[in-house]
Amino acid sequence: MTTVIVHYQEITLKGRNRSWFINMLARNVRLALADLDVVEVRSTVGRLELTLASDDHWEEVRTRLSRLPGIDHFAKAVHVPADVDAMAAAVIAGLRGRTPLPFRIKVHRADKRFPIKSPELERLIGQQVVDAVGWPVELSHPKFVVRIDVLMTEAYVFFDREPGAGGLPVGSGGKAVCLLSGGIDSPVAAWRLIRRGVRVPLVHFHSYPILNDVSQEKARELAATLTKYQLKTRLYLVPIGAFQQQVVVTVPPELRVIIYRRMMVRLAGRIALRIRADALITGEVVGQVASQTLENIRAIDDAATLPILRPLIGTDKDVITKEAIRLGTYATSIIPDQDCCTLFTPRYPATRASMESVLRAEAALDIEALVVEAMSGIVIEDRRFPGTGAETIENDKMRRLLAQETQP
Ligand code: ATP
Ligand code: MG
Repeated sequence: MTTVIVHYQEITLKGRNRSWFINMLARNVRLALADLDVVEVRSTVGRLELTLASDDHWEEVRTRLSRLPGIDHFAKAVHVPADVDAMAAAVIAGLRGRTPLPFRIKVHRADKRFPIKSPELERLIGQQVVDAVGWPVELSHPKFVVRIDVLMTEAYVFFDREPGAGGLPVGSGGKAVCLLSGGIDSPVAAWRLIRRGVRVPLVHFHSYPILNDVSQEKARELAATLTKYQLKTRLYLVPIGAFQQQVVVTVPPELRVIIYRRMMVRLAGRIALRIRADALITGEVVGQVASQTLENIRAIDDAATLPILRPLIGTDKDVITKEAIRLGTYATSIIPDQDCCTLFTPRYPATRASMESVLRAEAALDIEALVVEAMSGIVIEDRRFPGTGAETIENDKMRRLLAQETQP
């Protein structure tokens, strides 16, 4: 048996909802490790304790836990009776075979009723360890720290502490729909909210069959990657080629990108209302491309019925890129595709779209009919982690519902 202790931090601040957050984290941990021989996940004194049937899957357990929002840090632990000799023996066993480093022991009495105070425990255990393995003690700047958590009758000895992703457990923060292009930014934007405990369904707009289906494949791959973090993802693939063909006939070139974006926001908003999500998310950044100006953002917001969250709005590209690499979305994002928004649009879109000109251009379009048309061609896929592939929801009823006009 292997014991892993998972520490959360921010959850402890949540007062009366505390146990609700902890149960959610425990449930997510169970789901994330479902196929890795986990015997038990239980909540004890301010932490989760995982029991694994063996050490065999540790590398994979570690990888998955480090991705899961809501974890501050975690570590494999040796579980011993709260007895000085037993604790010292566990430390000695754990240090054997490692290269000696200036070290210290840090004791934390999780239960203050334990009769020996922490500094005294550190001294008593440390003495035995030094006698047995000869590592030099270094209290102020240790190169290696052995941590011991002492409860009333038992103790946990930790050697290697792994950082978690921070944030809050997914499911604790409601639901927001992310507009997922095939680019670098939007998957990172989705992750920023996932990390805050928000469940994030994804909507991708494509112009297949006018353009090839590469962008859809990229969206699917990105959805699969994000599922490793939120464990469950619904992806909506929405065809807007017919709409774009209409736009090309009636809308001046420099306004097309704005009109496309406003349509995307309407469609995503309709999906969001149906599934009771409270916000939309985009990967927009002020000034990153010509179309992302404050004026244009205003013109896009004007078409929305829900708040649009833009978690990257003030973030530089290099920071976003690093985050995408860490997330594992970057390699997919840079695959060349035919972006549906550059279809029939000029290289230099309007940077200051006046609301008046936008509304005038839109008046020539039968927006509601085009919304219904896009919604009736929607494809909905569900992904789970762990799991393989996607489950397509061939649900005509869902399509019909989404095509119906929805009032906020
Ligand atoms: P990204 O890297 O996310 O594609 P970008 O810098 O290329 O962003 P734009 O192409 O201007 O920016 O898109 C701005 C935002 O609009 C995207 O971050 C995304 O949220 C949304 N968006 C753009 N195209 C699509 C699409 N085809 N499907 C869904 N959302 C889209
Ligand atoms: Mg893009």
